[in-house]
Amino acid sequence: MDKVEKGALDLILHACRSSHPEEFGGILRADEGRITEVLILPGTFSSERSVLMKLNMLPISSNACGSVHSHTSGSLQPSRADLNLFNSFGEVHLIVTRPYNENSWKAFDSRGREIKMEVIETEPKERVSEEFSEDFKIQ
Ligand code: ZN
Repeated sequence: MDKVEKGALDLILHACRSSHPEEFGGILRADEGRITEVLILPGTFSSERSVLMKLNMLPISSNACGSVHSHTSGSLQPSRADLNLFNSFGEVHLIVTRPYNENSWKAFDSRGREIKMEVIETEPKERVSEEFSEDFKIQ
């Protein structure tokens, strides 16, 4: 997994920016070998220094390929806790930090090694997943 759709990346950056000064955390979904969507798990708890995701809330049919979270500190270095997560779940993990733009994120594999990701331009279209809108409606 070394590709991410630009639309998904934009959404992620926007979510991280909106969450600041709290961290943002979500699950990455893949389709045809690239990251296409970000999923916010029910019960996700964000604070200024961490985000707690309940992985048991992950739908089985989610096509989950990894995780994304933001660091409000400005660091793109995975923490010890991050490495534990990377190691136990998924194959690609993004960390985003200030100023939450296309140059302020990195991708890592399950062992915490940096991966080069290719950002794929896609035609602009509304990506509304049935599953997402039904199961994860938030207010
Ligand atoms: Zn982290």
